[in-house]
Amino acid sequence: MHFHLILTDNCNLSCSYCRGRVFENPVNESSGSNNLQVDGRLPVDLNFDLDDLFTFLKKDPDPVLTFYGGEPLLRSDLIAQIVREAAGARFILQTNGMLLHLLPSEIARRLSTLLVSIDGPQELTDGYRGTGVYHRVMANVRALVEDGYSGEVIARMTVGERTDIQNAVTYLAANDDYSFSSVHWQLDADFGGVERGRTFAAWADRWYNPGIRALVACWMDRMRNGAVLRWYPFLDTMQDLINGNQSKLRCGSGHANYAIMTDGSIAPCPVMVGMKHYYCGHITTSTPTGLKTVPITGPCTNCAIFDFCGGRCLYANILHPWSEEQRKIVCGTVENLHNSLQEVLPEVQDLLRSGVILPVDFNHEKFNGCEIIP
Ligand code: SF4
Ligand code: SF4
Repeated sequence: MHFHLILTDNCNLSCSYCRGRVFENPVNESSGSNNLQVDGRLPVDLNFDLDDLFTFLKKDPDPVLTFYGGEPLLRSDLIAQIVREAAGARFILQTNGMLLHLLPSEIARRLSTLLVSIDGPQELTDGYRGTGVYHRVMANVRALVEDGYSGEVIARMTVGERTDIQNAVTYLAANDDYSFSSVHWQLDADFGGVERGRTFAAWADRWYNPGIRALVACWMDRMRNGAVLRWYPFLDTMQDLINGNQSKLRCGSGHANYAIMTDGSIAPCPVMVGMKHYYCGHITTSTPTGLKTVPITGPCTNCAIFDFCGGRCLYANILHPWSEEQRKIVCGTVENLHNSLQEVLPEVQDLLRSGVILPVDFNHEKFNGCEIIP
């Protein structure tokens, strides 16, 4: 089982698209159509006995912990202790990359995967995340790799109206500062009001959706030369299209990937703070394999591409944060992704048959912090 472990809600950055301090000021879930009862008060920092965590993880045959925040490296002390003491677990770190130098080499080398938040070239990244962030993150990642880190490094982008998706992804995959072998992106689809909704809709239509089609063309160009680039929204979904597999919610929330909150309670996903009705257990009383599952419901279950999409996001599925018109715009981006990949599927199958690429080229760890459907 995969678990996000929230070490702290504190962060050393203030990115323009961040949800804000939901631990102290939870979103007003009852403003939507659900009238959910929310009690979001949680300790800001991890506040339970680590021995309880270790006992909980021992009951799991293959536990994977993703260190998460806030910014988890603000509690690099806890990361080091847990990596040293959680016997049998595997570890992933999802970080903004500003404090990677705080991670001792021997601890960094125990991480199988490192997800680093970066949004594209310097101007774009610094525009979203703050002046100087791009260079600091790139320097830190380079230093880590030069110091012997050999696990997967995933550029984890947040994508909004300022993003040229084709340019940003291809830049992160090949540039002079650090070229990421793996890239994942996630839409900032929080419309935040009618005005922004209009901007998002126009951007999705004019820039994002055509950009995805162009990116798929770039991906295929490299595939014809034998390389399957690890661009996660394509990699995970194409593997399932090749194998004819249906997918549950691809981020794994509520069925394969849970979040351990700072008080030890277990939520389906890290952002479902205080949504206690959906909580699935507690580390002191639950077993990892016996956690409650939380299904996707509503319109998704009748959607023609549900088996491809999986429902995109459990949090949004529960909260209904968008008007019907806005939901269709977001779902339109998923349809565009689906159709773009379906169109190239026959050629991918030809490349597999002819041995230019191999099935193993699509292998990756599921539920590794990439939500897959942007
Ligand atoms: S495309 Fe939209 S409606 Fe269809 S499964 Fe995905 S989130 Fe649900
Ligand atoms: S995609 Fe939605 S449900 Fe999945 S981890 Fe992200 S916020 Fe949670």
